[in-house]
Amino acid sequence: MREIVLVKYGEMALKGLNKKTFEDMLIKNIKRRIKSLGQFELTSAQSTTYIIPLSDDIDLEEVVERVKKIFGIAALCRACVCEKDFGDITEKSIEYLRDILGSAKTFKVNAKRSDKAFPMKSPEICMELGGILLEKFPHLTVDVKNPEITVTVEIRDTNAYVHAENIKGAGGLPVGSSGKALLLLSGGIDSPVAGYMIAKRGVQIAAIHYVSPPYTSDRAQLKVEMLAQKLTAYCGGIAFYCVPFTEIQEAIKDNCPEEFFTIIMRRLMMEIAQRIAAKDNCLALVTGESIGQVASQTMAAMVCTDAVCRIPVFRPCIGMDKTEIIETARKIDTFDISIEPYEDCCTVFTPRHPKVRPKLADIEKAQSSFDFEPLIEQAVEGTEMKTFQLGN
Ligand code: ATP
Ligand code: MG
Repeated sequence: MREIVLVKYGEMALKGLNKKTFEDMLIKNIKRRIKSLGQFELTSAQSTTYIIPLSDDIDLEEVVERVKKIFGIAALCRACVCEKDFGDITEKSIEYLRDILGSAKTFKVNAKRSDKAFPMKSPEICMELGGILLEKFPHLTVDVKNPEITVTVEIRDTNAYVHAENIKGAGGLPVGSSGKALLLLSGGIDSPVAGYMIAKRGVQIAAIHYVSPPYTSDRAQLKVEMLAQKLTAYCGGIAFYCVPFTEIQEAIKDNCPEEFFTIIMRRLMMEIAQRIAAKDNCLALVTGESIGQVASQTMAAMVCTDAVCRIPVFRPCIGMDKTEIIETARKIDTFDISIEPYEDCCTVFTPRHPKVRPKLADIEKAQSSFDFEPLIEQAVEGTEMKTFQLGN
């Protein structure tokens, strides 16, 4: 029995003339994601992509696991390939669904006939197949409102397909269809979630991370690299920029009032980020900030940070509670890495009494007492880049 994976589009199914661009992007992302599992043919019709394995030894379970994480997909399922012949459809359904129907109590049949030349209409397919399945699996009853199992028969162009599972896809839009942004990635819980959320809207991400050796350790950097690697399952390949930030932090400490340390540091982070963004065609910055979470994330603090930004700063977690962010972090499997206790450059030289409502004029004045420009240039110059490719 031949089995394939059917992939149903999410929101992109509603696109107009440019739907093809989204579709091509999605197919490219799927191909890249499953390449290491064997040879496949991918074709598309009617807002569905068919992943057809070209050999029998391919692990379809793993294909599903990987494709589940690709943005742009509303739902997916494994399906049995049948001839467009009712006899073949019934025969294969009985065999293919034996286990799943054997252990269920209620079911219904749902038919979708996109090939109108097929001699039976959808209600007829449902009735006939439903009747046959009831005979074969007499312990079952039909429940049209709330069935445990919905057996779906799809009559399409070249074949008919039968399936009984519907796996929720990752939603969103295909990564790469909305341009590229630069994610400020720390070792914390929030920024990986922010990266995931922005990628969900089709944005390709590059990541930037600031290190301050010897105040921050190699192990702390490695932790962030592990987070970047984790994110590739959803976001695809990620260019990772590591910025040497020690001298800037020391200069802030030596030259600026303590209560403004964090805000000035964040302004300098943004300044460096946008210079790297310009070099790598990133149109926006992304952070894991959530309003009111800490002193540097009050609205007044963000006003001061954003004043140095010439490109948009996206903060997808802005309205989320920590518990909601943690929920997502667990879902995308970054939580356990994030909670490993390593220092971040943001936690060295933290002021004892940070200003919760800083005034932009005060911050600008404090920052202007020292010329940071040569250090900024030096940090950009000294930034190292490496690329993380899709896992496995
Ligand atoms: P996170 O959990 O993402 O670390 P947080 O609640 O700890 O966030 P902060 O430490 O104030 O908050 O950082 C706010 C945001 O600044 C982070 O979400 C991240 O986008 C960015 N950031 C903080 N530290 C770094 C770093 N060392 N390198 C890159 N970006 C950073
Ligand atoms: Mg942090």
